[in-house]
Amino acid sequence: MSLIVQKFGGSSVANAERVMNVASIVTDTYAKGNDVVVVVSAQGDTTDDLIEKANEINPRASKREKDMLLAAGEQISISLLAMAIEKMGFPVVSLLGWQAGFQTTAAHTSARIKNIDTLRISREIDKKNIVVVAGFQGITKFGDITTLGRGGSDTSAVAIAAAMHADLCQIYTDVEGVYTADPRKVENATKLPEISYDEMLELATLGAQVLNNRSVEMAKKYNIELEVLSSMTKAPGTIVKEKTKMEKMLISGVAKDTDVARISVTGIPDLPGLAFKMFSKLSAKDINIDIILQSIGHDGKKDISFTVPKSRGNEAVECLTDYMTNLGAKEVLYDDKVAKISIVGAGMESHAGVATKMFEALYDAQVNIQMISTSEIKVSVLIDTVDADKAVKAIHSKFFD
Ligand code: ASP
Ligand code: MG
Repeated sequence: MSLIVQKFGGSSVANAERVMNVASIVTDTYAKGNDVVVVVSAQGDTTDDLIEKANEINPRASKREKDMLLAAGEQISISLLAMAIEKMGFPVVSLLGWQAGFQTTAAHTSARIKNIDTLRISREIDKKNIVVVAGFQGITKFGDITTLGRGGSDTSAVAIAAAMHADLCQIYTDVEGVYTADPRKVENATKLPEISYDEMLELATLGAQVLNNRSVEMAKKYNIELEVLSSMTKAPGTIVKEKTKMEKMLISGVAKDTDVARISVTGIPDLPGLAFKMFSKLSAKDINIDIILQSIGHDGKKDISFTVPKSRGNEAVECLTDYMTNLGAKEVLYDDKVAKISIVGAGMESHAGVATKMFEALYDAQVNIQMISTSEIKVSVLIDTVDADKAVKAIHSKFFD
């Protein structure tokens, strides 16, 4: 007998029919003799709708009250799923985050899990109950309800799997697994049978929205094998684990991220310490910098360009414009019609020419590269948004056709 954690995302429990479908997946697993802990997200767009409701009343509401509201979404889905399981004649209990022992930091709307006191879940399992837990939420040591940040239910599921030493953690979603590219955009994108934590982490961060990146970090840390699969089909999914057998593959996927903007600060005096001062201003505001490009100095001046998330773009420009005279810079330029296209693959570590192959694909498609950055298992380029889909297709066919 095994302990299996199964997580179902919002689309998998969007309506009564889907909830019944999830109940049958869960009860099938239980009927095979397994102990089952189920983690669910809020139904469909519930979380977005709740945020909208809050904004109608008070867009500046405190984060504590936002958490109080958002946690309600998951409370609806756990009770409905438990009712569906009851109806099928199986023993079940639903638990809110705090009842399931999720203790978190007090950083409302983006709390981190500190500890899971698994006593209650274990007791329910001993009573042979299927345990349905609300994802995305917990409680502070002061007794206040928190949420873990958007998409946080994946992390809830992995955290339970780690704390309970589960044998398997399945993440059910509306796609059949992790693909070599977005299957809605690239016709011959294929499903990967397996992928390593590191590659998945890069892809998750790069906007392949299958798994929340914090959940992958946690799975890697505690060595929890994940299976990403669809709740709508019975097809086998993608296994995410430490080491994969697929050495033949040069790259595992091509990702597109359009939530990115480019900022250039021009005419900065070519002196030590100015990059430090400039980026300190941004990190003080908690603005994440990604690709950075500095020009060679000429006439005692240089330009520094970098990317930020689009949502923080205006703030970053304002902050740097205020600081420009201190820097002695000429101007701050902003462009949010850019996209970041990346290839990810552990195979790059041992093969030369992977980046060249990507650049060749872009050249064939006549796509101009604005910036480049690389890491051990990733190459990213910044290009014009209008070229994004064309670029993904060209790169994908270069590597996979
Ligand atoms: N319901 C939350 C959200 O939409 C958490 C989750 O779906 O994982 O962000
Ligand atoms: Mg959701």
